[in-house]
Amino acid sequence: QPVCECNPCYGGPRCSEFLRDSCVANAVSGDPIFLEPYWMKHAASSAVLVSGWHRMSYIYTDGSYISEVLEKHIRKLHAHVGNAVTDGRYIIFGAGSIQLLNAAVHALSPNTSSEPPAKVVASAPYYAPYRTQTEFFNAVDYKFAGDTSLWKNNTSDNATTFIEFVTSPNNPDGKLNKAILHGPNVKAIYDHAYYWPHFTAIPAPADEDVMLFTISKLTGHAGSRLGWAVIKDEAVYQRMLEYIDVSIMGVPRETQLRALKLLNSVLEEGEGREIFKFAYKTMRNRWERLNNTLSLSKRFSVQKIAPQFCSFFQKVRGPSPAYAWVKCERQEDKDCYSVLKAANIDGRAGSVFSADDHYVRLSLIKSQDDFEILLDKITKLVAEEKGAR
Ligand code: PMP
Repeated sequence: QPVCECNPCYGGPRCSEFLRDSCVANAVSGDPIFLEPYWMKHAASSAVLVSGWHRMSYIYTDGSYISEVLEKHIRKLHAHVGNAVTDGRYIIFGAGSIQLLNAAVHALSPNTSSEPPAKVVASAPYYAPYRTQTEFFNAVDYKFAGDTSLWKNNTSDNATTFIEFVTSPNNPDGKLNKAILHGPNVKAIYDHAYYWPHFTAIPAPADEDVMLFTISKLTGHAGSRLGWAVIKDEAVYQRMLEYIDVSIMGVPRETQLRALKLLNSVLEEGEGREIFKFAYKTMRNRWERLNNTLSLSKRFSVQKIAPQFCSFFQKVRGPSPAYAWVKCERQEDKDCYSVLKAANIDGRAGSVFSADDHYVRLSLIKSQDDFEILLDKITKLVAEEKGAR
């Protein structure tokens, strides 16, 4: 049977036949394509046309690499959503927030060789680049030092700086994490990539010393590569700025222009509420359907997130996380990734997040087709379990 070029799950003369058995559900990456239909509906208000002569210079007219008007829009959006305090804070841009992870680690590390290298830590399950980047750059002023729990009662040695990555909501399990380490020599980098009403209730504006956000998980434009950091301390801001200046001389002007157009549209459509309503509705629907299916299973479970009051929607709302953090409950299923793969479900193994391989992350933020295929496979797997009993 001919397989459709566009999607191996469909075949037949007009790609209208669902090839259930040969099709593999791809739930691997965190590509936020679920927002594509929203932008199709708002194609005109979000379109950009850049003339050949426009913004050719390295710099903006004020001599900086940062668009002042984009920065203002970002502050306005945070105030509107109520998810972060930006008044009196510095903002810098990076090529995706992934670049700002290391910029922040650099800026919070000691900048004298007389101090020992900072210990960089994160709490499993955590987003792998915290470790992989820190190890890859192999710097003299910081080292990756494993799981945060190893250092919980052990930070009083004043000579060493600790840099704790805190992801809230967490990738992969959606929890609103808080820093575990405390003390005068402890610094935290709060990664708030998913702290938008799409994926979580917003209990209060975040107000930490170093906070990272990204357009990838806000508008879904992961390919534009724009992240930003909101920073309290001027010296930390200067060191992060230097990192960006030295490495890339600022984020591309086209990216900043596109982001401005997108944020403008976000703030205008439906009095700045439409994208959040769409995103929450989509993610909530996916979560409810997945949860209902998995609730029939004894072999697989998924993380529990309690309903919570959201200051943006002004009501208690149910969970709508970006990822399902699935656990294979049977002791013998210690390679949960392979268990799901055998059922044609491709996820990301727990060990990628420095967690147990009884866990697998399934992405829920891809296209509707990807989600429907995933749910179909899971439904089949759970039904087989029932039949076997
Ligand atoms: N932090 C977290 C927790 C993420 O999941 C991601 C992307 N998956 C990033 C940061 C990086 O996002 P980007 O570089 O696209 O801004």
